[in-house]
Amino acid sequence: MGIYDELGVAPLINAWGTVTAVGGSLMAPEVVEAMREASLSFVDLHLLHRRAGEEIARLLGVEAACVTSGAAAGLTIAAAASRISGADGDPSAIRDECVILRAHRSRYDQAVTIGGTRIVEVGAGSAAGADDLRAALTPRTALVLYLAEAEEAPGSLALGDVAGVLEGAGVPLVVDAAAELPPRSNLHRFLDGGADLVIVSGGKEIRGPQSSGLILGRADLIARCTALCFPNHGIGRGMKTDKETIAGLVRAVDLYVRRDERAELLAWDRMVAELVTALGAHPLLRARRHTLGAPGIQPASIPRAYVATLGTPAAEVAARLRAGHPAVAVGVDGEELAINPQCLDPRQLPTLVRAIERAIQPPASVRPLGGL
Ligand SMILES: *Cc1c(COP(=O)(O)O)cnc(C)c1O
Repeated sequence: MGIYDELGVAPLINAWGTVTAVGGSLMAPEVVEAMREASLSFVDLHLLHRRAGEEIARLLGVEAACVTSGAAAGLTIAAAASRISGADGDPSAIRDECVILRAHRSRYDQAVTIGGTRIVEVGAGSAAGADDLRAALTPRTALVLYLAEAEEAPGSLALGDVAGVLEGAGVPLVVDAAAELPPRSNLHRFLDGGADLVIVSGGKEIRGPQSSGLILGRADLIARCTALCFPNHGIGRGMKTDKETIAGLVRAVDLYVRRDERAELLAWDRMVAELVTALGAHPLLRARRHTLGAPGIQPASIPRAYVATLGTPAAEVAARLRAGHPAVAVGVDGEELAINPQCLDPRQLPTLVRAIERAIQPPASVRPLGGL
């Protein structure tokens, strides 16, 4: 009997993606082994945290890195590191505002407010311009937060334009790129494009421990972040990065930079093709391959299988899938199921297809006599 059985919590087939609420991603055996190994000895956590940051920065080819307990923790810590409290006497020195384009607001940005930073929204819907951004900057601006997935959204500004406005202002530009992998090149693209810090989840495509994340970028800012992190008694003290997590993330990054990105994309493509063929054969399903044009769904580079469920709303089918045996987690986009192959194993596909075919049928009790 396994631990999930013991707790009466059934494992899911994840056709949704690296969604934290269903577990994010699965760790490679080497990552689990690094965590096991780390669990066997005591170690100086200050030193381990710092050395891990240096090693990850080297592996990723960035200036500096700070290990956090997730991307959300990274947002809180980066905002706190950018904040100037004025506690040392000069109230005119207070910087406690985080400027965000309206099109970049997300449910994750509350993380920057935890340390007392206030959000200042720029632009109305689809109308933000560089001048609006310039006008929103005040002596109290501590940072500008840029949501990578909203880069192309209506009302967004190009990262380079935002960086241009901030030129010489001494205000860090922080990019939330938690789930913007693949492509791996995104790890550099935002920094090269003018970001001072980039925040990534360790528990999504990097496939490190679920409670891990990274702040990457400028060494002086990373040093300030590190000073606020566990095991120091700053805002990050409660966002613990234990020795096992740190070790696991280092190993995961090491594996990540060596992964064959093209081969993975091909494997996802093959899974999508197989699903489209198998599901498309059902009279109540219409299946197609879809690559995301619209911004806001991460990561856009992974192909999806989109499935229209004739006669039953897609959301209803998704709810039945979630309640089924085995349970399946799947996204819904408009009137279609959105199947993301990112966390699927090809061996799960026949089971997934059968589960969807079962879910499209009305429950036996309401089935009309003699009909479907
Ligand atoms: C997932 C996500 C986060 C949070 O990441 P965690 O590692 O789960 O804390 C933050 N921002 C965005 C845009 C995300 O997609």
